Amino acid sequence: MKVLLLGSGGREHALAWKLAQSPRLSRLICGPGNPGTARWGTNVPLQADSPEAVVSLARREGVDLVVVGPEAPLVAGVADALAQVDIPCFGPVAAAARIEGSKAFAKEIMAEAGVPTAAFRVFTDAAEAEAYAVQQGRIVVKADGLAAGKGVIVAPDAQAARDAVRAVAALGQVGQRMVLEELLEGEEVSLMALCDGERYVLLPLSQDHKRVGEGDTGPNTGGMGAYCPAPFLTAEELARVGEQVIAPTLAVLRKRGTPLRGVLYAGLMLTASGPKVLEFNARFGDPEAQVLMMQLDEDVLPLLDACAKGTLEPRTLAQHPGASVGVVLAAEGYPEAPKKGQRIEGLEAIPFNAPVFLAGVAKQDKALVTAGGRVMTVCARADDLAKARERALASAELVRFEGKHFRRDIGARGLRARP
Ligand code: AMP
Repeated sequence: MKVLLLGSGGREHALAWKLAQSPRLSRLICGPGNPGTARWGTNVPLQADSPEAVVSLARREGVDLVVVGPEAPLVAGVADALAQVDIPCFGPVAAAARIEGSKAFAKEIMAEAGVPTAAFRVFTDAAEAEAYAVQQGRIVVKADGLAAGKGVIVAPDAQAARDAVRAVAALGQVGQRMVLEELLEGEEVSLMALCDGERYVLLPLSQDHKRVGEGDTGPNTGGMGAYCPAPFLTAEELARVGEQVIAPTLAVLRKRGTPLRGVLYAGLMLTASGPKVLEFNARFGDPEAQVLMMQLDEDVLPLLDACAKGTLEPRTLAQHPGASVGVVLAAEGYPEAPKKGQRIEGLEAIPFNAPVFLAGVAKQDKALVTAGGRVMTVCARADDLAKARERALASAELVRFEGKHFRRDIGARGLRARP
């Protein structure tokens, strides 16, 4: 099979690495890819969020499957355009990807599907929202649209709630509609399912680390590391979440004529009264994808292909019996103002079985330099979580670039959960 993979981050490098292991792959094209994907496929310059550009490249190369990594191409309608020319696409049409793009839409789908989530109200008037927020006190304020990580504020008291509504309203367009919801407490985990519009298979439960600093301190980031499996649910409990969350959501989207073919990602809070959905995404998480690809002990290509074509067989996926850990190495100044152009060294010392997935990295005269906030994810797999973390951290020490910082406590909550 000829596959076109869209995107250029660490998630896409991990997908390229996993796809390249498939005996069914004949050619992998990465558009635009990064210096990491170039090792496993051919990078082609491409504006991945232009439906015309993607269709044109896919036709020219005669690809059998397009795999979409990031959300921007989905929101832009890349999957819709590919459907019109009968090219199978792993990644949903724009109307289904709205489940990620609009918080209010996601809540509407959850309500219709009977999915457990935080109680909420939608406001279009900032003054009304403020009055409600102050009256509630403890609350979470969310801008309706995508706000590059700035659109969600967790407010523990009335004063913070008032400030939160004002801050979200000040975001402009995306803050004109806001969702105010009940503040939930518990362990936060990510559940991803590969979906063919109707059926699904579950990937292992994983956990991301959003804050920049150890012990979950400092500002939010795109994610500083992940591990799987996250040991907070038994296999039976996980299957039940699939039935209560994934299945009904897919059914509602399908009934609306916009089936979701791709990843349905549920951000869950494991509360005292059971798992509740915080948010949906319509693509793999990054850096969760990196550890999920390592943990998956079977060929990913037939799975993605079956999702794109609507022929998925529901079953339990084979996964490595141990655990996988990914530690993000970030650039100096990340997340506020990451410094670019620092020379990267030491990668050659990392063992072959501990893959490093490149993200914000560029090639400059044959040398690798930093080119973004999250520079790379160093990963490892081992018999247990403690060992996998030890190995990933050993790799993290080997890589050198000025201003490098990373969290040494990736997986700490998982280790605590298991005596
Ligand atoms: P979201 O983009 O909706 O996932 O929100 C971003 C982050 O805010 C989540 O990862 C949670 O850590 C936090 N958050 C969102 N909703 C809630 C909630 N209802 N209760 C507590 N924390 C929340």
